[in-house]
Amino acid sequence: MRVLFCASEIFAYAKSGGLADVGHSLVKALSAHVKICSVMPFYAFMDKNVYQQSSIKFSVTLGGIEYKVDIYEAMADGVKTYFVNSSILSATKCMYGDENGAYANNDIRFGIFCAAAVELAKVLQADIIHANDWHSALVPLFVKRAKLNIKTLFTIHNLAYQGVFDKSSLARIGLEDAYFHMDALEFYGKVNFLKAGVIYSDALTTVSPTYAKEILTKEFGCGLEGLLNAHKEKLVGILNGIDESIFNPQNDAALCRPYSYETLQKKYENKKELQKEVGLRDVKKPLFIMISRLVHQKGFDILIESLDDFLKEDINFLLLANGEDAYRQALEPYVQKYKNFKFLSGYDEALSHRIYASGDFLLMPSLFEPCGLNQMIAARYGTIPIIHGVGGLKDSVHEKKMKCARGIVFSQPTKKAFLLAIKRALRLKKDEKRFNEFISFNMKCDFSFKKSAVAYYELYKKVLS
Ligand code: ADP
Repeated sequence: MRVLFCASEIFAYAKSGGLADVGHSLVKALSAHVKICSVMPFYAFMDKNVYQQSSIKFSVTLGGIEYKVDIYEAMADGVKTYFVNSSILSATKCMYGDENGAYANNDIRFGIFCAAAVELAKVLQADIIHANDWHSALVPLFVKRAKLNIKTLFTIHNLAYQGVFDKSSLARIGLEDAYFHMDALEFYGKVNFLKAGVIYSDALTTVSPTYAKEILTKEFGCGLEGLLNAHKEKLVGILNGIDESIFNPQNDAALCRPYSYETLQKKYENKKELQKEVGLRDVKKPLFIMISRLVHQKGFDILIESLDDFLKEDINFLLLANGEDAYRQALEPYVQKYKNFKFLSGYDEALSHRIYASGDFLLMPSLFEPCGLNQMIAARYGTIPIIHGVGGLKDSVHEKKMKCARGIVFSQPTKKAFLLAIKRALRLKKDEKRFNEFISFNMKCDFSFKKSAVAYYELYKKVLS
């Protein structure tokens, strides 16, 4: 069985969030079961000298315009990744947009990417294309429209991002008006790429069992709950995992002192060094951390509303986040007011590892969370997750059950519930024996992709049968 995994970002080539982690770790785990390789766009910030130019070259035609495509390649962890290089797709400074917002030509950029991925699948004689999120959602449509003998699986990593464009997009990506109706791409007078993945795929998955149920409801369905209900027979929720060799406190090159659950004193030394560096005093105080995108989804409204009460506790709080300016500005006054709060604005992979290693508790007050990886990474580094019990967070963090991971769970996304959760965390920290039990239990949990890769493999077999 040959599989082509298709995503807009794959670690370590390009990453803005969890999709890239999954693009790396799931594919690596799947390579134990199937012949698999990946395809992603070649972006302008990538260095052509690092990648090998492939002999594969072709053109794709969308809306009567021919776009030349050449392919680059790289190998990592035994998996080959192909990169689609094409003028419009690869010309932009960033992946999806910059400080002025999303790129206006993302429809054609990712249209080219999808058409090229299908062409590549033909060259590679793939049996299945596994497409992910709206950036590759046109793949199942292009495959069905061309009546190719290739099956498609589509995974929704975050329903909040759907790739919605003006009606004129349809012509630009070369699709007939017949696709502009409710049961195809039309979405309130616009064109919705994600719908293509839902409708035309042979199998449909999302990244946790709870999120698979949630997205069928008005509250979490982002306007697509009706469509998803119509396709729920083929919808399955499979929990993500992490690459335990990348997120491994025992040999993480980013840490000053690697450690295991047997050498937790060294975790404390990581904390000491990082706190000194960022200017947070008193290492004995519980250190709360948060590593996130500054967007509504991640619960920043609840956090900001709670900050005065939270920061008056005898704690330190270190936040690493990048994203919307409005949240950055809303956080600034608290940085000025409280010495026990440091906000590092930006995206920094190595620093994030050091913060995971230094924390006592990780905050994840997300309003919704398809799966979430931070809580698994934190647990692996012996940092106890405090989560709002939604989506994949609910499936992977437990307060009352001895299940992986153990943490603090609050069920209402409110300031009151959040602050009560903080109080429970502080009580736990005071009970040193129980606190250490949580840590060592979590550090022994299996968060690898092994089990979930088998579930995907079974689905691949099912769609081919
Ligand atoms: P999402 O994909 O919604 O951003 P996930 O929890 O699935 O959330 O994955 C987030 C990934 O991105 C994790 O690997 C996390 O450590 C990383 N990450 C998020 N924000 C930052 C940041 N500001 N700096 C470094 N890494 C970050």
